[in-house]
Amino acid sequence: MHDHSPAAADGSYVHEEHEVFRYVPFPFPEGQFPHSLGAVVQRTVLEGVEPARQVFHTADNSWNVGDGVNDPNEPGAVVVTCLRRLVDRDPSMAQLVDLPHGYEAYRAGPDQPWRREPFTPLD
Ligand SMILES: [Zn+2]
Repeated sequence: MHDHSPAAADGSYVHEEHEVFRYVPFPFPEGQFPHSLGAVVQRTVLEGVEPARQVFHTADNSWNVGDGVNDPNEPGAVVVTCLRRLVDRDPSMAQLVDLPHGYEAYRAGPDQPWRREPFTPLD
């Protein structure tokens, strides 16, 4: 199951290991990232070392989150995890819930607005 365990009184969720799916039908009916969505997340972002600066929604409906500064192709640099946990920590990412297929959202830093543009995969 991909249920979350409710945390403390603030109503937030504990994102312990739970099942996620790489490909969840889009657009999302509830207008927010579903808890079941698994994204390819750069470990630096997941661990809070760097903010998310790039979010890709690929043509084949995969989501990728990167820090925009480190090489995501390094061994072990990315992990598939619940995207919603990142939104809980950085609510501005909720704006990207309607990012179309084939689009990238990017920003210079966590206090900057998200910008969007189509992207072309390198390979
Ligand atoms: Zn979660």
